[in-house]
Amino acid sequence: MINEALAVNEKTTSVVSETSSLDPNTLWQSLAAALKSRVNEYVFQTWFAPLHPTCIRDHQLIIQTHDRFTKDWIDDHYRDVVLEALNETGLGLKHEIDEFELEVNDALRPHDAPGTHQVTVSAQSAQKKQLNDKYLFSNFVVGPSNQFAFAASRAVADRPAQAYNPLFLFGGVGLGKTHLINAVGHGVLANFQNYRIIYMSSEQFMNEVINGIRYGKMEEFHNKYRKNCDMLLMDDIQLIAGKDRTQEEFFHTFNALYESKKQIIVTSDKLPHEISGLEERMRTRFQWGLIADIQPPEIETRVAILKKKAELEGAELPDGVAMFLAENIRSNVRELEGALIRVIAHSSLTGQRISIDYAREVLAEILANRQNLVTVEGIQKIVAAYYSVRVADLKSPRRHKVVAKPRQVAMYLCRKLLNTSYPELGERFGGKDHTTILSACRKMELLEQKDNALRSEVQELKRRIQE
Ligand code: ADP
Ligand code: MG
Repeated sequence: MINEALAVNEKTTSVVSETSSLDPNTLWQSLAAALKSRVNEYVFQTWFAPLHPTCIRDHQLIIQTHDRFTKDWIDDHYRDVVLEALNETGLGLKHEIDEFELEVNDALRPHDAPGTHQVTVSAQSAQKKQLNDKYLFSNFVVGPSNQFAFAASRAVADRPAQAYNPLFLFGGVGLGKTHLINAVGHGVLANFQNYRIIYMSSEQFMNEVINGIRYGKMEEFHNKYRKNCDMLLMDDIQLIAGKDRTQEEFFHTFNALYESKKQIIVTSDKLPHEISGLEERMRTRFQWGLIADIQPPEIETRVAILKKKAELEGAELPDGVAMFLAENIRSNVRELEGALIRVIAHSSLTGQRISIDYAREVLAEILANRQNLVTVEGIQKIVAAYYSVRVADLKSPRRHKVVAKPRQVAMYLCRKLLNTSYPELGERFGGKDHTTILSACRKMELLEQKDNALRSEVQELKRRIQE
């Protein structure tokens, strides 16, 4: 009897503690934190901050939205993100909640809705808040791959709207575009305290267009961007491709700012003519100013970035380890930083000294994936797809221009990116003589310097291969 009572009691307590951890508010708080790390601040403020959790019912967390539009929007755009976040938060609760449901709260009126959460741009502190404090000129490592973009950004920060307008910063993922565009913002504020700067991604801009239309606030929207703005920093402009209304608004914003001699900077992971779905008139305007590209950093720059980063983190990074990381992670500064942080974090947790062996061990998985990632076959496939030919064409002896060019580009890229020997490449390209490969590589090397179109094709292919 006594035993049974005890058992029941234990059960009850455990049930109680379990249900108390399922309090919708507490759960919402951790869910919100998980969401925050998955979306940018603006998306979070616009769509998630205004939500209210109400209860948990039938394994579902019930969340209230202001209106049907918000409900549908979150359902359409962020359902997976919320489920992922829920999954992460709910580790222990997985069995209790496996879904969420959005309910519309009719009591709230539209003017209580997301619009009120928009960031204001009047005070300097507010502007600084939009800019990322970590991204300064002073901690940007300059090397041959990025010095042009760096110099152009500096010039714009010192003489906004006089040096280059617009400035179009272009480069692959994780190469420092966001860093540089933020640095310009900080640089300008240091020189001109009252400058009204708007920094945002073009996705945020699109959200504001949507909100403006939805709440009949387009006039406010126009004032904000066309009148009350001295400098517009728009990150990831390639994302407005195909969004007609957003492009339309951006076009008029651009014209208004440009005509009143206000600086515009945009970043993009593609060149204007490579962004499909971008209107011609926008393309032309981006070409009015300066297009500055950022290339993947050379090994020396990668080492320098690692050293700078380690210094900022207060960690000791032996030269050999910096070299090891820089040799193995080549294409993307974000990944390079990620690897370094991982090694530093591990070493500070375990108290082990950072050595090459230690780094190799900590990064084993990442490095293994990386090495298998780029192969001759992989390059052949990507190049063939890019030029709409078959991989078999690349290996065939046909000399028609339609296949000869893609074939030479593929050979050249294999040699450049993988450093595979000429005889082996000959083998892999359908049993050709090594001199064929050699002359293709020489020819491409020369052409790449002279022929702009080819250069941008090769760059685009490199980006695709390295992603
Ligand atoms: P992008 O916007 O081009 O995708 P980011 O600007 O976000 O790339 O850069 C990714 C990370 O790499 C950031 O943490 C950034 O500070 C860092 N980074 C990139 N280039 C450099 C550089 N030259 N010096 C120092 N840090 C860099
Ligand atoms: Mg970026």
